[in-house]
Amino acid sequence: MPRTILVWFKNDLRLRDNETLYRACLQADRVIPLYVFDPRPFAMHPLGFARTGNFRTQYLIEAVTALRQKLEAKGSNLVVRIGLPEFIIPEICANNVVSEVFTSHEIAAEERLVFKNLSDKLQEMRLGFTTFATAPLLHPADLPFKVSELPNQFTSFRKAIERNLVVRMPLPEPALKPLPEMEPGTIPTLRDFELPTIKPTSKSVITYAGGEAAALAHVQDYIWTKDLLKTYKETRNGLLGPDYSSKFSPALSLGCLSARTIYYEVKKYEQQRVANDSTYWLIFELLWRDYFRLVAEKYGSKMFRAGGIRDKQIKRQRDVKKFEAWRAGTTGVDFVDANMKELLRTGFMSNRGRQNVASYLTKDLGIDWRWGAAWFESQLVDYDVCSNWLNWAYVAGVGNDPRQDRYFDIESQASKYDPFGHYVKFWLTE
Ligand SMILES: Cc1cc2nc3c(=O)[nH]c(=O)nc-3n(C[C@H](O)[C@H](O)[C@H](O)COP(=O)(O)OP(=O)(O)OC[C@H]3O[C@@H](n4cnc5c(N)ncnc54)[C@H](O)[C@@H]3O)c2cc1C
Repeated sequence: MPRTILVWFKNDLRLRDNETLYRACLQADRVIPLYVFDPRPFAMHPLGFARTGNFRTQYLIEAVTALRQKLEAKGSNLVVRIGLPEFIIPEICANNVVSEVFTSHEIAAEERLVFKNLSDKLQEMRLGFTTFATAPLLHPADLPFKVSELPNQFTSFRKAIERNLVVRMPLPEPALKPLPEMEPGTIPTLRDFELPTIKPTSKSVITYAGGEAAALAHVQDYIWTKDLLKTYKETRNGLLGPDYSSKFSPALSLGCLSARTIYYEVKKYEQQRVANDSTYWLIFELLWRDYFRLVAEKYGSKMFRAGGIRDKQIKRQRDVKKFEAWRAGTTGVDFVDANMKELLRTGFMSNRGRQNVASYLTKDLGIDWRWGAAWFESQLVDYDVCSNWLNWAYVAGVGNDPRQDRYFDIESQASKYDPFGHYVKFWLTE
């Protein structure tokens, strides 16, 4: 009997440096690559908007389509289903004599619940279920501490990591194994999710589509062709245009690109062109991304509570009118409104913008930070559960910020980062 492994793709939509697919292709005679569109993350939020909005959904559709094309070109295919993975996967396993399911490790509560239900069913069927850490820069086995001992401040974490930084080499694309005869399934469209089509705009700073090839081409463009890495630290607080920061986040959020691939590209650049504060800083930011994943792992569902991981009780208003004005970019505070319009029209906002609008919502308007995090979850093309919710908690004062009283004075931020008002004008004079 041929050994068949089912590879369940989630936020690891790539062939290069994908340990899940790589190990399956080494160990099995047949491999079933599967993507499941689970309707739950696309449902309506109680605040009245889709939990996954049209920008993020469109990007996902592009990435899934690109993955299918790449697998097809290599003699396999991507099987696509719509429904609940914990029911669909056991059924496919039973129909195709699958012996094991491989997938990438998940951290957040909802995903872990799906894992638990699936793993119980697979156990009843006496099938294996193995997960791999495909998202972080640092392999969990290389960390110098247990997750339960993770420092509560980023600087302590970073220093401990940098003492002996181990980043594993990216794995090559595997030679694919045959796929059993089965119906490939159709990739849904925005309309299937009842989401409006996207009005294209030349104002968007995300200039590449979803998918691995587009992500790798973007890395090449940013680092090598445009040679922007060498000035990243000086430009990263910018607001206008595609070049002030890397814009790697949409590709990283769906795993079209691995953090390790970026790391080794930066190392190559340091050897061939220049090693400076900017090249260091991009890796520093990738460590933030890993750090938030570990914080989420340490604190579990606490990260979604009003008091955050610190259990801090802060009185918050539930003022829908003010929240709606913030969401629509009509608060009357130009710098906030310009950023919120950019988010609304393109699904992206700079890091500087995110810090300011989050501070304004939570500290000036006094609104529950989780409402803001939910809107970002819906809207951001680069939404990542750990980075989003823990950055929000950080700004709201219930997360890992060692400074308890951090406050962004919007006027002084605007005059520092948009001194001539170009950004505000760009978004508020449509
Ligand atoms: C309120 C708020 C919500 C956020 N929500 C998200 C989110 O859902 N998804 C997301 O990827 N980032 C989020 N961030 C972090 C950050 O704003 C984005 O990663 C960054 O703006 C993406 O643009 P870039 O790829 O050009 O970043 P660059 O500046 O070029 O950084 C390179 C990469 O480093 C990582 N990174 C940079 N800053 C951070 C950070 N503060 N936390 C974690 N990782 C970081 C990202 O993977 C990013 O792609 C949020 C920040 C705030 C303040």
